[in-house]
Amino acid sequence: MTTDTTTASAVAPTPDGHLPCAACGVAVPADDAYERIPVGEPILGAKQVGGSDRAEDAMTVRTYAQMTRCSSCADRLALARLLVDAHPAVTRRIGSPAVATERVTAALDGLAALGAPLPDAATTTGTKVARLVHRLALPGAIAQWASHQRGEKAAAAEVTTAPWAHLDDEDQTALRDAYAALLSDAIGPRPTPPPDDGSPRGCLFCGVGQQPSNAWEQVNTRTRALGSTGKDERVSGYLCGACADEAAKAGAIGPTARERSLLAHLGVGINPLNPAHLDGVSAWYLTGRPPSRTRWAHVALDDETRDALGID
Ligand SMILES: [Zn+2]
Ligand SMILES: [Zn+2]
Repeated sequence: MTTDTTTASAVAPTPDGHLPCAACGVAVPADDAYERIPVGEPILGAKQVGGSDRAEDAMTVRTYAQMTRCSSCADRLALARLLVDAHPAVTRRIGSPAVATERVTAALDGLAALGAPLPDAATTTGTKVARLVHRLALPGAIAQWASHQRGEKAAAAEVTTAPWAHLDDEDQTALRDAYAALLSDAIGPRPTPPPDDGSPRGCLFCGVGQQPSNAWEQVNTRTRALGSTGKDERVSGYLCGACADEAAKAGAIGPTARERSLLAHLGVGINPLNPAHLDGVSAWYLTGRPPSRTRWAHVALDDETRDALGID
């Protein structure tokens, strides 16, 4: 097999008096700030397979090399420490502050390798940090220069000719896929109609036709429970998440759940001492209308009721 010229030009011998950056791989003037950094397969891989005990085994057989971090990669390590300190829930999920810092750093390195923006420590949330770690810690760790190197001597002997120049197509594809997944996590599940199993095409209560795919709740009920005064027939269908929550609070699919769901939608607080009363809020299912883009579109409140509820 011939030498891959891309790889060959991406890597050079470490200049005298320099150490490789453990993340992006560039040569950094050596001072006292070096660390003994594990090289080869990222620890993360071992942890994912074996859990914490096996990870310890994996660490004991690892080789270590003297490496450092260039200033921009050192900034990301500092940012990782800030994020770990600021979001203890992230550490609790991962186990220890040291491992949490390692994983957050790897995820931030993954963002840097992609040229993607880093989180703002002042505004990000624990949930966002946890998502970032979930998606990017592993591909980020694999992208680190230290992970690409094998053996103590070889590891310190080479540097990259530009930040992240060592990444091959496979590394870049893994990072891009992980980043795309991270962005779609932030958007959340896409709105979809209820499962297509012959059920009515909207929320039985409020008639909304689309909502996040994971929020539809299947229910089996009867037309009387939906407000019909006619023959009591079985109905199998779905409630949207908000209507399902009100049905759960009310303890049953019935008039109370419908009324609470509509009042909550209107932003009217429920006062147990002086309940705003809506006589017979009809369920969308009984109207025969097509599903709607907004909840409760089939209900038109008259002026008197709006006044009584204190809404415009
Ligand atoms: Zn670097
Ligand atoms: Zn609904």
